[in-house]
Amino acid sequence: MLGQRKLLQRLGPGLLHAFIFWGFLVLVPTILIAMIGIVDKHSTLPWLGHQGWYALLVDIFCVLVLAGVIGALWIRKVQRPRRFEGSHLGEADLILALIATIVISLLLWHATRIALHLNEWPASWSPVSNALSKLFADNQTTRVLERVFVWIHVLTILSFLAYLPRSKHLHIFVAAVNVWFGRTRAGGRLEPLKFDDPDIPEEDLRFGAGTAPDLTWKQVLDTFSCTECGRCQDACPAFATGKILSPKLVIMGLRDLVLAQDTDTPLIGETGVPADMVWDCVTCGACVQACPVSIEHVDHIVDLRRHLVMVDSSFPTESEQMLRDVERASNPWGKAQSERADWAADLGIKILEPGDPAPEYLYWVGCASSFDERARKTAEATAKLLQTAKVDFAILGPRESCTGDPARRIGNEYVFQAFAEQNVETLNDAGITKVVTGCPHCFNTLANEYPDFGGNYEVVHHSELLSTLIREGRIKPAKAQSDVQITYHDSCYLARHNDVTEAPRQIVDAIGTPVEMKRSRKQTFCCGAGGAHMWMEERASPINEERVREAAATGAGTLAVACPFCTVMLDDGVQSAGEDLRVVDVATLLSEAVDDHN
Ligand code: SF4
Ligand code: SF4
Repeated sequence: MLGQRKLLQRLGPGLLHAFIFWGFLVLVPTILIAMIGIVDKHSTLPWLGHQGWYALLVDIFCVLVLAGVIGALWIRKVQRPRRFEGSHLGEADLILALIATIVISLLLWHATRIALHLNEWPASWSPVSNALSKLFADNQTTRVLERVFVWIHVLTILSFLAYLPRSKHLHIFVAAVNVWFGRTRAGGRLEPLKFDDPDIPEEDLRFGAGTAPDLTWKQVLDTFSCTECGRCQDACPAFATGKILSPKLVIMGLRDLVLAQDTDTPLIGETGVPADMVWDCVTCGACVQACPVSIEHVDHIVDLRRHLVMVDSSFPTESEQMLRDVERASNPWGKAQSERADWAADLGIKILEPGDPAPEYLYWVGCASSFDERARKTAEATAKLLQTAKVDFAILGPRESCTGDPARRIGNEYVFQAFAEQNVETLNDAGITKVVTGCPHCFNTLANEYPDFGGNYEVVHHSELLSTLIREGRIKPAKAQSDVQITYHDSCYLARHNDVTEAPRQIVDAIGTPVEMKRSRKQTFCCGAGGAHMWMEERASPINEERVREAAATGAGTLAVACPFCTVMLDDGVQSAGEDLRVVDVATLLSEAVDDHN
């Protein structure tokens, strides 16, 4: 908070906000100084009120705060960015006017005190107030003005403090608390619902959020911390592609219902957050990443989904089949578990049977790479590379099930927890300590969510293991001779939620000429599959086409990915957008380069 790090992600508006924020901190003692000055114009705060350096700081920060206010007004009134759509702009204008009045009246008060020789600090330390003092003579008019300015200053501060609790600028106090309690856990982890905790009485069990009392204290704090800056909305791929979802409006809508103190009005619906908003989310976390006050939108949205699914039995009809397939066939493709290892049939890969000794790595293939034709190529390439590097690994074959991620992200926590418990039991019984997976969604669930169910493993993404093997010289790729440029698309669940950004780039770097997209690493733009959207109809413009166009704009011929869902979504996007790009996983690219080397 003190460093304003998240706000400075956008340098211009971030600096303007930082000027106002730091100015607020520096100028706090001047409130006391002015109050003492009202009572006795010849008195001031002991010690600090006499310091030239503090007078200099006050002058500098008054100017910086004014610059911040003018800049903020310029952005609001002239630039009018879309991120402010739906914000309470009139209220923000009033707050900016109050802040400007506070610093202008302070400068003028200091100027009149210098003109009247009432300054307790050396005037030469106050370049701005000193220059303004030339406007005033040492006479009765200035004596009256000195009183007027100090009263305006103090009354404006008191009005500001009285108005604050009723305004969105309550965030000045609440945001600091929210940042303090912001998540330190991995971005992709969802808080489990406790269905079988004997310490929680049945009537207190939570099934997501249906009405305001269902919100956790952190969620309520989130809603009061929102500054309505719209940074979350600006980063949201659903909003960017014309869907009705705006993470900012979700938080503002929830705040309105909390403030109404109505315990019965549903959070979802005409009076609250429209259900379509709840379903548009791809849980990419771009909003959470962008929010300067650590609001956790994904937790809110998933909690709303949990209530819709588990209490109201209401979810998009097209996802019904997926949920049925996960429950019936243990995978969202609805294929027989006996076909899970078909891709590995001729590759001589060890399938772990009960009682077998644990391999160094369990290769967790994931449903997509087991059943989807395009994604299967990644599994084949990864397995061949691990064999080349002589890594001791095995797969579970038919004993591997869906991690439960799509069920959890759509809101069916029951189904997720059933799969989590079953998979953890299988892995623990097999004595697994290290897991490698090519699916960022499986990675996130295994690494960040299974510890809540007793599954503690060292989980690596295939790009991390493969780049290590290249570094150790156990995999030797041939650098492409042709000048084919490769642009790498960061998966949200790998880069943003789990900080894996460099390993896939090291692979791309080892085999070709990398070229970056505008939105990359933790600022990536979703492929459109997250949050179980792989199995939902998409409203408005397709997210995958937007991303494919961004990739094509780099001039690259290859769009590298490190996620089976990104593979499928972006390959579909290439076809529907009519772009000329080859979408391929980094493992497949590496495998081809190793074959070339040999
Ligand atoms: S998680 Fe992504 S899609 Fe969902 S609200 Fe946030 S930015 Fe939008
Ligand atoms: S949720 Fe965060 S990023 Fe979004 S408008 Fe509120 S403060 Fe800004």
